[in-house]
Order: sequence, then structure tokens, then C-alpha cells
Amino acid sequence: MTYNITLILGDGIGPEVVNSARRIIEATGISIDWDIVEAGDVAMKKHGTPLPAFVIDSIRENGVALKGPITTPVGRGFKSVNVRLRQELELFANVRPIKSFNGIDSLHQGVDLIIVRENTEDLYAGIEHMVGGEAAESIKIITRKASERICRFAFELARSQNRKKVTLVHKANIMKLSDGLFLECGNRCAEKYDDILFEDMIVDAMSMKLVQFPQNYDIIVAPNLYGDILSDLSAGLIGGLGLAAGANIGHDIAVFEPVHGSALDISGKGIANPTSAILSGIMLLKHIGEFEPARRIEDALAQVFEDESNRTPDLGGDLGTKEFTQRIIDKMME
Ligand code: NAD
Repeated sequence: MTYNITLILGDGIGPEVVNSARRIIEATGISIDWDIVEAGDVAMKKHGTPLPAFVIDSIRENGVALKGPITTPVGRGFKSVNVRLRQELELFANVRPIKSFNGIDSLHQGVDLIIVRENTEDLYAGIEHMVGGEAAESIKIITRKASERICRFAFELARSQNRKKVTLVHKANIMKLSDGLFLECGNRCAEKYDDILFEDMIVDAMSMKLVQFPQNYDIIVAPNLYGDILSDLSAGLIGGLGLAAGANIGHDIAVFEPVHGSALDISGKGIANPTSAILSGIMLLKHIGEFEPARRIEDALAQVFEDESNRTPDLGGDLGTKEFTQRIIDKMME
């Protein structure tokens, strides 16, 4: 069987890390017909838009995509391609597993949590305006529909992965209406899942507790902005952004991408850590039901990390992206 999968290389280190993931997936022997489409800077130069309609069409048609990071310039201009993709394809759940690797020097060991970030609204709704010349307003949207949907998703994920606890993050003590609604939806949802423990936590306390005791958390569900920040924080606990995978899940569509951005500071140097993209590729394989190839890559990656000489510069080593990729492929073939 041949799978049709959309491939977006992305900006900055995107092509380096996505091509690494692609090589490793192909080395498992499964047959994929990649529909390679351009978004971001390259598309802007070629087509005058960073998100041409054919990109959306390709993802809709194939239902699955592997995507590299796309640069979003700070300031005015085009709306983030990532936010547009998530909104247009209704990729409402952003799933970000954070799992420590044996042998990787990191702040914590024994971490195995998943951040489930609401992906379509909150301050990312993009509703902003100036009030006169001296003030600006950004509107935070929280709806019952999206909040119920993401909370249900988090509980279902907990059940399907045999996880014990869902922790909902909010700031309802200050944003009594918006975050209050999110919390209310979580509380109601929890009543239907009495096999799963449920707790809620204010985002500032959550940040501190994650830094101190990340092993105490299982599934964390959060509105868009808190989920975004907490996932980078959590990646930092296990060794950095190069190790954190992500998936954007909708009803019939899933887009897999590393949590990190285009890392323009190291782009083109061949030193990016491709692990995040590889882990996203593993999530993709599991999503399409290819569990055995996914397990082979997972095992090879874990074994490669056991040897301290197998490290990219972000983890204190000197292996380039391509060399690191080859070590994983060699391990898979042993
Ligand atoms: P970033 O994640 O690109 O980089 C932050 C730091 O982490 C940098 O020092 C970088 O060198 C390092 N880093 C990130 N990934 C790495 C990897 N795989 N290997 C080694 N080091 C790595 O964050 P940023 O600099 O804030 O963002 C750059 C651009 O990426 C911005 O335009 C931002 O909007 C965009 N971005 C896109 C996505 C996405 O497409 N999903 C996600 C986050 C940021």
C-alpha cells in the first residue's frame, strides 16, 4: 500500500529537519507518495502568498501532512501561516508529548506528559486593533464549543493512552469570564470520565510546579496561549526544543510538526537537531496505523541517544543533522 502524504519543508531549519525525518521514515520501507508543497518564505517569493490555496487543498485531500516550521515575522503584515492552517483546517487540538530520554543530560528525568493545547481561538483569534495611537487591544476569544471539544479530546486521549490524570490550566481568578468558561467546561467534562483524575491549576502555579515536579503530570489541557508557553517550558525540562514533537489534530485531518520554530540563528549550518521532526514523524506513522515502523524508529532513536557521542550541538555534541540522521538509520538496519 502507498500512502499519500503532504510534505511542507518550511523555513529556516525546516528543510534540514523535515528531510531527516523523511529519510528515516522511508528507511523503514513503507511506501509514501509525498506531495511536496511550498508554504512560508519560498511560497511568498514564488506565488506572492505564504500560504497558497494548493497547500490547503493538498492537506485536505491527503488528510495527513508532515510540516516544517514557518517563520512569522513580528509586526504587521501577513497573519501567521501556522495559525491560518490551524484555523482553516479546524485543527483544533495541538498535541505535544514531552518525554525525557535516558542518557540525555537534562533538568529532569522520568518526565512523560502530554500537553493538549486548544488550537483555534484565545488570543490567537487575531482580533487586534489600535485605540487611537497610544493603545492597542487584542481580544481573547473563548467559546463553549471549542472548550468542550478540547477538554473531551484530552480525556479521550487519557483513556486511549491509559493515563491517569488530566490537569486543566487557566487563570480564571483574573479572567473570570473567558478562563472561567474554559474551567467550567473542563469541570463538566470531568463528570463524564470518573475513571480519570481531574484537577485544575492556575497557569503561574502550573509553571512553577512543572519546573519543580514535572513527573507529577500526565495530560495537561490548556487554552491556546498557556499551552504554547507551557510546551516550550516543558521542552526545556527534557533537553530543549529539538526534542519536542507536535501534532495538530482535526476531525479528519492531522498535521504533524516539530514544536520549535525556524531557528534562523542556526539555519543552513547543518547542525539542527532533527529529533523533534523525527518524533513528529513517529506520531504520524502511529496515526496512519503503521505501529511497527514507528516502534523501530523509536527504539533506534533511544539506542542512539544512549551513546554520548551521538549528540547535535544543542545537546552539547558535535554531530551534524545528516550524520545524526545516518546514525539512526544505521541503528535501524542492525
Ligand atoms: P525557535 O524555536 O525557532 O528557536 C528558539 C531557540 O531554539 C533558538 O536558539 C534555536 O536555535 C533553538 N532551536 C530551535 N529548534 C532547534 C533544533 N531543532 N535544533 C537545535 N536548536 C533549535 O524560536 P524563535 O526563534 O522564537 O522563532 C523563529 C521563527 O519560527 C519565528 O518566526 C516564529 O514565529 C516561528 N515559529 C514557527 C513555528 C511553527 O511553524 N510551528 C513554531 C514556533 C515558532
